[in-house]
Amino acid sequence: MKYSNTIAFPGRVSAKQRLDSFNPSEYKRTRNFIKGNVSKLSPYITHGILSLEEVYDTLTKKYNLRPDHKFINELMWRQFFHHVWTKKGENIFSSLAEELVPKSFYRSELPGDITRAKTGLAVIDKTIKGLYESGYIHNHARMWLAAYIVHFRKVYWKVGADWMYSLLVDGDLASNHLSWQWVAGTSRSSIYIFNAENVKKYGPEEFCVKGTSLDRSYSELSDLAFSRKTIGNELITEDELIPFKAPLIKSYPPIDLPDIRNANLDDFFLIHPWNIGFSDETSSKMRKVGIIFEEFHKKWPWSTVKWNFVLKSMEETCDDIFICRDASQIGKCLTTYNQHLEEIPRFPFDRVNTIFDKKIGVEPQQYCHSFSKYWRKIEKTIT
Ligand SMILES: Cc1cc2nc3c(=O)[nH]c(=O)nc-3n(C[C@H](O)[C@H](O)[C@H](O)COP(=O)(O)OP(=O)(O)OC[C@H]3O[C@@H](n4cnc5c(N)ncnc54)[C@H](O)[C@@H]3O)c2cc1C
Repeated sequence: MKYSNTIAFPGRVSAKQRLDSFNPSEYKRTRNFIKGNVSKLSPYITHGILSLEEVYDTLTKKYNLRPDHKFINELMWRQFFHHVWTKKGENIFSSLAEELVPKSFYRSELPGDITRAKTGLAVIDKTIKGLYESGYIHNHARMWLAAYIVHFRKVYWKVGADWMYSLLVDGDLASNHLSWQWVAGTSRSSIYIFNAENVKKYGPEEFCVKGTSLDRSYSELSDLAFSRKTIGNELITEDELIPFKAPLIKSYPPIDLPDIRNANLDDFFLIHPWNIGFSDETSSKMRKVGIIFEEFHKKWPWSTVKWNFVLKSMEETCDDIFICRDASQIGKCLTTYNQHLEEIPRFPFDRVNTIFDKKIGVEPQQYCHSFSKYWRKIEKTIT
């Protein structure tokens, strides 16, 4: 296997190194700048190599952070998106609120100039190329890319979300799909847009799009976003599209794994792609079996970069790794719960004992539709 990913080296040791070397003191001031001091911890958090609680505990103790520190606030956004997913289930893959722009205005596939990173807009093309190479995009560039696809090219948000999810090493169904809804304005009463000036302020020089169709006022771009009109395909000829090949997205792992059917397993600790680093007193005494669920990936395929990150990280912690074609074949075992398991057809929750991850603060029982409501409830419970 070749591990070309330089944004996040796989495994728990690399994760700990990243966590130990991150200092959040400049985070609030610089986080919106593409070259700002962000943690790049998301691939480890998504795949359970680090828990949210561990990140929180380590950094609050080391830097004496208060719960209202901006970095903690961002960790809480992740927890909030999982709160919404738990309460709303599959509904997060459809618009949660009334759509502000009629669905008929949007197309249902990504244009080729976008998938080939050839829109002619530096900020967009460089962001997509970076995504293809490393599987990572800075948060502000994710917002730009999503807003560009939805509002300026009029592609339906779910199409963009599915595409980005499959390519991000930190791809997390809740954080991703709910962030796209936030940008599209399908989970709240406003939309997110940006212009060339905003890119100039927060992006590096090579992202500059001054003098292009994005170099307009917010009110002009907002009118455009609510209309059928599109902008932002700066290419002139089809020829320019030919040379670049987008990475393959695969619904099966890039290595052959033995089939769990032939393994005759019982009483083991199940490592899945979302709890890779988990260990406690009980699990450390058990055989650790990694399982890839084929049915999940038929619906949610991954890029090679993501596959490699996950499999290499699993290799470090698991005694064996298997492919599972039918989850109902899983025998008695113990695992940690993650909402992604609900996406696995026939997952035998009745036979599998699940441990629930600790949350930051006390999770409200009642559904909170907005982050501010969620935060108000949970803030008081954080000690
Ligand atoms: C369109 C779009 C798609 C996104 N898709 C994903 C995704 O698939 N997976 C994912 O983990 N995040 C996603 N995010 C949220 C955010 O962009 C990433 O979590 C963040 O950029 C990861 O980089 P970092 O670890 O350096 O973040 P930092 O800024 O260092 O933040 C620390 C941690 O807090 C959490 N976090 C930070 N910002 C957010 C946020 N806005 N929403 C939710 N959690 C946050 C992440 O776990 C992150 O690792 C998306 C955002 C947008 C706008």
